[in-house]
Amino acid sequence: QERLKEILAAAAPMEQATRPPLAMSFGPDELWQAIYGDELVVHYQPKVDIHHGSLVGVEALVRWMHPEQGLVYPDRFIEPAESCGLMDELTMRVLRTALRDCHKWHDEGLDVSVAVNISASNLNVLGFPDVVQHLAREAGVEVGSLCLELTESMLAKDLMVSLDILTRLRLKGAGLSIDDFGTGHSSLGQLLQAPFNELKLDRSFVTGASEDMSKRAILEASLRMAKKLGMRSVAEGVETRKDWDLMKALGCDLVQGYFVSRPMPADQLLHWRAQWQDQGS
Ligand code: C2E
Ligand code: MG
Ligand code: MG
Ligand code: MG
Repeated sequence: QERLKEILAAAAPMEQATRPPLAMSFGPDELWQAIYGDELVVHYQPKVDIHHGSLVGVEALVRWMHPEQGLVYPDRFIEPAESCGLMDELTMRVLRTALRDCHKWHDEGLDVSVAVNISASNLNVLGFPDVVQHLAREAGVEVGSLCLELTESMLAKDLMVSLDILTRLRLKGAGLSIDDFGTGHSSLGQLLQAPFNELKLDRSFVTGASEDMSKRAILEASLRMAKKLGMRSVAEGVETRKDWDLMKALGCDLVQGYFVSRPMPADQLLHWRAQWQDQGS
C-alpha cells in the first residue's frame, strides 16, 4: 500500500504537466517509402560480460533517417508499420543488414553474435525459420551467431504456431531471447514451453535498482529463475556504475546500457571495443 502511494505520488506531477502534442503518426505511403526507399539504418548496442567486461554480442536497433525529421526512433514507427502489414519486410531488411554487418565484424576479428528484434507477425509465418537460415547463408554467417529477441506478449496470439516456429529456429542454432521480461501479459507457464535460452530483464527494473527494494526483489527472483532454467541473463538499461555493481552482485551474466555504450553505427564497433578495453573495465 505504502509503495503504491509512493508510485502514484511520483506519477502525479507528470500527469498534470502539459504533454507534447501526440506526434503525428506515419501513414502507409511514408512507411512504405522508409522501408523500400532504403531510409532505414541499423545501429548496434554492445552486450558485455559483466565479469570479464568482454564484448559478447550486439543488439541491432533500427532507426529511420527521415528526410525532414532526421533520425526517428522505433517507438514511433514499429507499431504503425505493424498495423500497415509492413513488419515482415522491415524484419527481413534488419536481419539482412545485421547478418551482413556481423560477417564484416567476424572478418575484422570481432567474435560477436548479433541480436535482432522480431515482431508478432513473424511468428505467423511458418517458413520464417527457413528464411532466417537462407539469410544467414547468404551473408556467410552461422545461424548460431544470431539471436532473436521477442517480447512475452508475442506468444499470446497463436501459441502452437509460435512454439513450432521457435522450436525450429532453435534447432537451426539461433539463440532465442525473452525481451523486456516482466512487462508483458503472458503466463509463465506458456512462456516456459518455448525454447528460450536468454532472459533480458526489462530496464524499468534495472535502472536505479540499488535505491529501490521492489525492483531489487523482482530482479533477484527473475535471476534465480533464469539460472534454474539454464538461461543466460542480460540486464538492459544499465546506466550507472551503481546499476552495474548491483547487477554483478546479483549474479547477472551480461549487461547492456548507456553505462557501457549508446547504440552506434556498425563501423564504429571495432574502435569502440579498443577504447573500452583501454579503460580496463
Ligand atoms: P528493446 O528491444 O528493449 O531495445 C532496447 C531499447 O532501450 C533501445 O531503444 C535502446 O536504445 C534503449 N536503451 C539501451 N540502453 C539504455 C539505457 O541505459 N537507458 C535507457 N533509458 N534506454 C536504453 P530503441 O532503439 O528506441 O528501441 C525501442 C524498441 O523498439 C526496442 O526495445 C525494440 O522493442 C523495438 N525495436 C528496435 N529495433 C527493432 C527492429 O528492428 N524490429 C522490431 N520488431 N522492433 C525493434
Ligand atoms: Mg530487444
Ligand atoms: Mg529489451
Ligand atoms: Mg526494454
